Amino acid sequence: MVTRISVKHARQAAAIGQQVLVQGWIRTRRDSKGGFSFLEVNDGSSLANLQVVADGNLANYETEVKHLTAGSSVAIEGEIKPSGGKGQATELLAAKITVLGLADPESYPLQKKQHSLEKLREWAHLRPRTNTFGAVARVRNSVCRSIHDFFQEEDFLYVHTPIITASDCEGAGAMFRVTTLELDKLPRDGSPIRHELDFFGKPAYLTVSGQLEGEIFACSLGKIYTFGPTFRAENSNTSRHLAEFWMVEPEVAFYDLVDNMDLAERFLKRLFRDALDRCGDDMAFFNEHYDKTTIETLEKIVACEFHRLPYTEAVEILQKSGEKFEFPVEWGIDLQSEHERYLTEKHFRGPVILHDYPRTLKPFYMRVNDDGRTVRAMDVLVPKVGEIIGGSQREERLDVLTQRMAEQGLRSEDYWWYCDLRRYGTVPHAGFGLGLERAVQFITGMANIRDVIPFPRTPGSAEF
Ligand code: ATP
Ligand code: MN
Repeated sequence: MVTRISVKHARQAAAIGQQVLVQGWIRTRRDSKGGFSFLEVNDGSSLANLQVVADGNLANYETEVKHLTAGSSVAIEGEIKPSGGKGQATELLAAKITVLGLADPESYPLQKKQHSLEKLREWAHLRPRTNTFGAVARVRNSVCRSIHDFFQEEDFLYVHTPIITASDCEGAGAMFRVTTLELDKLPRDGSPIRHELDFFGKPAYLTVSGQLEGEIFACSLGKIYTFGPTFRAENSNTSRHLAEFWMVEPEVAFYDLVDNMDLAERFLKRLFRDALDRCGDDMAFFNEHYDKTTIETLEKIVACEFHRLPYTEAVEILQKSGEKFEFPVEWGIDLQSEHERYLTEKHFRGPVILHDYPRTLKPFYMRVNDDGRTVRAMDVLVPKVGEIIGGSQREERLDVLTQRMAEQGLRSEDYWWYCDLRRYGTVPHAGFGLGLERAVQFITGMANIRDVIPFPRTPGSAEF
């Protein structure tokens, strides 16, 4: 009996003696003087390849096997044997090799060993075949699994919030418009656009956050989380911003800001712990090739407590630091990445949760403190990446909420349903948003966010 097996499982000593079928892509072929060849085969199930021994007696050895080059696809039947080779417990002694597709070494882009990450971005259709992007994909998968594990184990309900939304001012950045109006047939004589003719009868957008809808479910069902794609049309070409990214947003009724911080800290630690435990080979790879400190940093973070301090104290620390910042620090400014990095990398040398920001910096839905000047906001900052989580305790008092909306030029009528949550059985509640890609970036140590999402969307770039 031949068992179809993945490279990952074929590499385990437990597979020795089994008759198996392995399907994958050739990474390298090495011909031995003894008239046989070694093939390194990868199928994406693990970072490491399976070594295949292709004997010269194979029927197609001269005609096909000896022409296999990187990128060619194969199906191989044979027996798993113990291997004398370094770094592997097993190898596959091929009895039959079927060549499914050759890859012309003259034109196959990954034939050459090393390409820059920038160059690989041009080949989003091929880069998952590299060690780096295979490892990123597996770690990203592990993080997604941990997200669900964590919340499901804590009895959170997974809620799907809409991707198309008509509330145009969620306060989180520029939005993409969704329309079926024919853009090249819009009135050009200055007459207004007739939104009633549009698909939804009014302007609609891609969501920048599922929070407001998440609050609806939290204020009915208690503990919920959303996890889905999020869109921001900010024209910021940074190494930490995408136009399309994934966000996890828990929202919990009866939570205050401290509960929220506790949840965020526990949650991040779980993601980091799981990545270390479940993706050992991939993490070792990142540690070796991209960031020599990433494993040590994660281990340390999992074991220590996050520093928590009010925005006001952070401003004092920055002012007393003696550091020359490009943007001078004073109470009321939005902290820049240089400030965040100083706090996490130099002052505290670890994650920091800043809380209680000036009300002028933050959206209408954050709860106003008794001092009237600050709101119950929190940002979790980590070394290198900066802000990884943003959240708050929400304003549950209708009068304060409507006043804050007015302050920010929003019409409370447009948010009548949001106000209803405060009108009928209002409760304190809190939540936050974690950018999935920022988390994967931090865990892997990859410097650019475009390299931790399969198909990055950034200004001027959406090829695949
Ligand atoms: P930043 O200040 O870094 O632009 P933000 O304060 O606008 O982020 P929030 O609205 O608080 O972001 O969103 C919650 C989380 O979503 C952030 O902490 C971050 O992890 C992630 N995030 C926000 N914008 C982006 C983006 N453009 N690309 C990738 N992740 C993002
Ligand atoms: Mn934020």
